[in-house]
Amino acid sequence: MSDNRIQQKALQRSCPNCGAALRYNPQSGKLRCEHCKSEIDFEKSTDVEERDFSELFDGIKWDESKVGYYRCKNCGASAVLPRTTLATTCPYCSSPIVLDEREIGLIRPDSVVPFEITEEQAEYQLRLWKKRKIYAPNPFRKNKKENHTIKGVYAPVWTFDFDTTSYYSGRLGKTCTRTVRRNGKTYTESYVKWFNVDGIFDKVFDDIYVSGSDHFPTSRFESLGLKRQSKYVVYGDEYLQGYMADNYSVEPEEAYRQAMDKARSDIYRSIMAMYNADHDGGLDIDTKLLSRSFKYILLPVYVATSKYKNKVFNQYISGTFADEAQTKAKVCGKAPVSPWKVLITVLVGLGVVAGIIAAVILTSDNWSFDFGDWDFKFKNILQLLPVSR
Ligand SMILES: [Zn+2]
Ligand SMILES: [Zn+2]
Repeated sequence: MSDNRIQQKALQRSCPNCGAALRYNPQSGKLRCEHCKSEIDFEKSTDVEERDFSELFDGIKWDESKVGYYRCKNCGASAVLPRTTLATTCPYCSSPIVLDEREIGLIRPDSVVPFEITEEQAEYQLRLWKKRKIYAPNPFRKNKKENHTIKGVYAPVWTFDFDTTSYYSGRLGKTCTRTVRRNGKTYTESYVKWFNVDGIFDKVFDDIYVSGSDHFPTSRFESLGLKRQSKYVVYGDEYLQGYMADNYSVEPEEAYRQAMDKARSDIYRSIMAMYNADHDGGLDIDTKLLSRSFKYILLPVYVATSKYKNKVFNQYISGTFADEAQTKAKVCGKAPVSPWKVLITVLVGLGVVAGIIAAVILTSDNWSFDFGDWDFKFKNILQLLPVSR
């Protein structure tokens, strides 16, 4: 039934057996025909190289005979898709997206972390996540299929490597304590001990991430556990078949500026930490780049839109497994909150506190609590209660 042929030449867009569209299959790592289930292998490489910095401003273009630029007329999201894509919907708002004949972003990705989990598995992970949202309204938690869409999207990320050396000089301070005697009594007081510093600080940065898309703040990659260098492979258009790639909206120059800011503040923190300093009385740092390189990579995310009372809530499911056993994937995103559930919890909470107070008062002559700092407040509350003993 399955036909495993190695296709090493042109991009195979349609099934050699029946002509139907091919889709990248996360489970086999091959292209799969949705119609006759044939599977076609293609050339892969894990030999991902950093790109010379000069290419940041004059990069390798996407092959626009193979991929096109699509735009959502409702929310304005833009994506890069194989040109063979017929009709599809926006992953963020589920409106139709259409081909837009304009030039797509200059730089073609160097590397991609391919999808490991299928749409069905992502759906299952989303269902588990919704069940755990105990403050969400029940119809939302039940996750009915007609109320949501789920789509595999590659998120664009710029990564930078810097080899830096920094000359620094200035005055730093460290908070210390000392014991003093005044009027026959002993006090402990804190003071700042100042000292001069100067020296050279070297640091190598490997893969500083800067998100290329507003849909994916860098923190989201961390929540989804997507910073996985071990999973990088060389980009090929085959990985995009059946998926879409968010087009970058953060231009390379801006991404570089953000990466340098991250490196500079990291160097500053490192020098402060080296001297255990917590006060800065003027520290000059002159950072030189000994080498710099970059990569433009795509990370796999399933984007879900869940509708509740005509509002759309987006969730994000990692396209890679979070565990060795390949059973879990990380999920983050928004869920509606049921005001009734919150109110009931508050009331139950107040009931429990009132119950504890009543029980303590009824059963104990000696109010002795050990709640640490809380103890004080708790006693104050008790004193305010109109109870006679
Ligand atoms: Zn086929
Ligand atoms: Zn949209």
